[in-house]
Amino acid sequence: MIRPYDRARSTMAHEPHNRLGIDYRTAPTRKVAVGITDIHSHVRDVAGGRRFFEAADLYGVQRVYTMSPLDAVDDLSAAFGDRLRFIAVPRWDRMRDSADDVLAQWPHDLAAFRERGATICKFWMAPPMRARFDLTLEHPSVRPVIDAALDLGYEFMTHIADPTIWWKPGGRYADEATWGSKRDQYDQLAWFLEYVQPRRVIGAHFGGNVEDPGFLADWLERYPNYYLDTSATKWIVREVAARTTAVRDLVVAHADRILFGSDLVTAPHHPFEHYASRYWAHQQMWETDYVGESPIEDPDADPPRLGGIDLPADVLRKIYRENADRFAST
Ligand SMILES: [Zn+2]
Repeated sequence: MIRPYDRARSTMAHEPHNRLGIDYRTAPTRKVAVGITDIHSHVRDVAGGRRFFEAADLYGVQRVYTMSPLDAVDDLSAAFGDRLRFIAVPRWDRMRDSADDVLAQWPHDLAAFRERGATICKFWMAPPMRARFDLTLEHPSVRPVIDAALDLGYEFMTHIADPTIWWKPGGRYADEATWGSKRDQYDQLAWFLEYVQPRRVIGAHFGGNVEDPGFLADWLERYPNYYLDTSATKWIVREVAARTTAVRDLVVAHADRILFGSDLVTAPHHPFEHYASRYWAHQQMWETDYVGESPIEDPDADPPRLGGIDLPADVLRKIYRENADRFAST
């Protein structure tokens, strides 16, 4: 069914988060009444966090897992209390020519995050990490970090691959000699899932391959400790819209292994509508049969499409809350 959200609806809309002129202050009614957990965000500052939580409140998001800089954690905890849970991240911003100093510091930071309640450790191992620093999860220099995380009782989140479209001609990874193919990125993940099992691993952004639901189903079946999050909005929205039935089948078949996440990043300059637009789009995508344009500008799609997959209520309860509760209890 076609919903009345299209470009013609508003000629006033210019904002990148609202090309359709939607009133994000009027949140659509939720299909299920559960306090939602957002398993993947980057709440980096208190001021941005306040506007972020304004949107979270309106869209029923109760608990938020965040990859925040260690130095910001105490202030964020004081401001937002138990609504925030921290995912341990290293000081990647300090990486220049080599990763050595960051990797040496990382086990100490893991301990500090653990003291502040973190139970998940995130590894960002997208293609630039291999191309620029020769790093993958199975590189020997990363092993002491993984072992320290295991000793501290951590579970894991990984970012392995990026949108398939970035490997196409003209895309940022088009030069396969430099970046490797998309499939090349996954060898490290197979190693990692076996090395850390039975600890659980959440593959961020649908494991980096929402473009291929069959591939994801294979991995979920092969590795019982592998989970996926739904995070990222532009990427996930345009690729779900391109294959609604296949994604719906994947999510329904593996409803116990998929967790809701937004990948929202706070910044002092973002307005409330920036945050609300992501929660709005995810709600339309998972809870309705909306077919039309996405309100969010997307450099990789013009016009950006949004296709809802209208998940059953029991599946929504799992991906919104129940699966995350099973992570919170470790
Ligand atoms: Zn992220």
